[in-house]
Amino acid sequence: MNLTVSATENHVTTEDRDTEDERAFRLKAREWMHGKLPPRIVGQPFMDWEDKDLIEADRRTQRVLWDGGLAGITVPKEYGGLGLTRRHETVFGEEAMPYRLAWHLGNNYNIVIPVFLGHASEEQKRHYIPKMLNGEHIWAQMTSEPSGGSDLFGLITRAEKRGDTWFLNGSKIWTTGGEDSDIGLCLARTDPSLPKHQGLTMFIVDMHQPGMTVRPLTLVNGTRDFCQEFLDDVEVPLENVVGEVNGGWAVASTQLASERAATSRGWFIGAGASLPREQIEIPTAPVKLAQELGLAETQRARQIVGEVIALQALRELVAQRAGKGIDAGTLPPTTGGVASLANSTLNQRASELMTELAGPCGVTGPAEGGEPEQGIDRVWLFRIGGGTAEMLRNTISERHLGLPREPLPGKDVPFNQLRTNATQGS
Ligand SMILES: Cc1cc2nc3c(=O)[nH]c(=O)nc-3n(C[C@H](O)[C@H](O)[C@H](O)COP(=O)(O)OP(=O)(O)OC[C@H]3O[C@@H](n4cnc5c(N)ncnc54)[C@H](O)[C@@H]3O)c2cc1C
Repeated sequence: MNLTVSATENHVTTEDRDTEDERAFRLKAREWMHGKLPPRIVGQPFMDWEDKDLIEADRRTQRVLWDGGLAGITVPKEYGGLGLTRRHETVFGEEAMPYRLAWHLGNNYNIVIPVFLGHASEEQKRHYIPKMLNGEHIWAQMTSEPSGGSDLFGLITRAEKRGDTWFLNGSKIWTTGGEDSDIGLCLARTDPSLPKHQGLTMFIVDMHQPGMTVRPLTLVNGTRDFCQEFLDDVEVPLENVVGEVNGGWAVASTQLASERAATSRGWFIGAGASLPREQIEIPTAPVKLAQELGLAETQRARQIVGEVIALQALRELVAQRAGKGIDAGTLPPTTGGVASLANSTLNQRASELMTELAGPCGVTGPAEGGEPEQGIDRVWLFRIGGGTAEMLRNTISERHLGLPREPLPGKDVPFNQLRTNATQGS
């Protein structure tokens, strides 16, 4: 996703609130990063999976942080982290604002570490988490399939145990950064005689092993962030199961919830690509665009600029409120879904307004002078990634508001006896 890095000039710190210990940590971080990390370049893509140099630079950046004892601030010490508080993380984020952080490793921080802390074995945590923190491994999520991503628990990639090895066969799709990732968290069906939510297992899979074919997909907008994988007898050792065999539903639920929480908070890797959530960022793009098009004095253009700025503020406030509430335990984790939905809905409205302002030049990509994430193509991708807006509404109504669940026909029927398109006629 080509979200871009935002400016830092109005960046203020909260150092007046530091305790002695936090102050010492702040100074250590400040001193270590100075001169060692690449600068934050405004407008540079936050992630660009076609830019191999940027991906490698991000790995090096992560290594620098690791060497300086600044990687995984809240991750427990026994797994290579610092075991510090959220407040230390904020302090780090403030000090890291002048620099580009390793945003291509976002899955490691936002999704895989929470999944590992919740479900992985002690050996898995000790082996893999340090490599997530030191830049050695970039992780991918292999969940969606060509047959559908919303009904995740209807997936058909299968894993069969032969001797002391699992063999995986099937296909995954829409894997962000699949080609450049080292390891994938892959959900597969291990027992089709169980109902569809039950016979699933989560595997740790080497992305570059025999039997695994990873193909980048070119989207209609020309980007190649996503991949499709074909798995032909991909061998996975028994110790690479995360959680219980046939217990993949629980692991995947943590994965999805972590993704929703991360989307609502801002994709976080020690510091987000946007300003710290203490501040509201006023977008300059609509003002610039109205001026460049000579529309700044017209009533409609002024209304649009005002509404876009208000929407942006609303997005930031909802994310702040949700993020802080979830972290403090005053709001349930399901609030992440509410913030994700608000983010995509408000972003979509802002994009429609910017497109109206831009006229014909705003139809396909970002409006001239606008941020890439305000292009219509991006906005619609945001309504899909991490679960579509419709699925988010289902999740919010069922899990957050406690409304009756959507009917799940066949929920107790063994997966291999479910009627599908393939079995309809038989
Ligand atoms: C930016 C981005 C990044 C992504 N990264 C990854 C990744 O790294 N790894 C990965 O595995 N996947 C990834 N995905 C894929 C994403 O998870 C899926 O696209 C998504 O879950 C939807 O699945 P689908 O595209 O197969 O659509 P479908 O599931 O086929 O849905 C089609 C339409 O039907 C609607 N629909 C389906 N079921 C219901 C229902 N029960 N109630 C109401 N409406 C319904 C959906 O909302 C949608 O509008 C990414 C997608 C995007 C856009």
